[in-house]
Amino acid sequence: MVVVAMNVIRIHYMKRYGKRHHKEKEIAPVREKRLTQMMFVVMAIPGVLWLFTPWLSFGQFALPDGVRIAGFAVGVCGMWWFYRIHRTLGDNWSPVLEIRTEHTLIVSGPYKRVRHPMYSDMILWMVSFVLITANWFYAATLCIGLAILFAVRIPDEEKLMTERFGEQYTAYMKRTKRLIPYVY
Ligand code: SAH
Repeated sequence: MVVVAMNVIRIHYMKRYGKRHHKEKEIAPVREKRLTQMMFVVMAIPGVLWLFTPWLSFGQFALPDGVRIAGFAVGVCGMWWFYRIHRTLGDNWSPVLEIRTEHTLIVSGPYKRVRHPMYSDMILWMVSFVLITANWFYAATLCIGLAILFAVRIPDEEKLMTERFGEQYTAYMKRTKRLIPYVY
């Protein structure tokens, strides 16, 4: 259910993105596309296998029902955040790294304390999926996938934003963290 809701939000913004798409600058579009595909592979495929086949049963570990229900609650919060972040970014959102002709820098709402709240939200989904599925193999694919995404994309994204917004972005970097408020 959480996954369906996330996809509904994303499809809505993908449609909007398709309609109002005026790129000014794009970074490594092919690599970016591969990253998006990789995220789909590490999230969707093990998820579907876990739901519909016994193949991942070797990775199950014991978790009390209460913890799994809490995992579901985390997922619902993550979904709500996902919607809020998309709404805040509006037309600045893009599935791959790019700057648009009418790009504005968002520094408030979910962007007030961290520069990449959408990526932080993905950590929340990961926690949620791991608690719900209680499967270490799924946990491992998600962890590796997110680590690769963050390591490759965040430095380039910050470079792109600094080139476009200069002083405004460096000042924003000084007063914010990357993913976790006050920590990192
Ligand atoms: N990294 C952000 C945004 C992901 S969407 C997050 O985790 O929330 C990716 C696009 O958002 C990039 O192409 C970039 O141009 C744009 N972007 C990133 N930070 C932004 C900001 N503070 N204001 C406006 N656009 C931003």
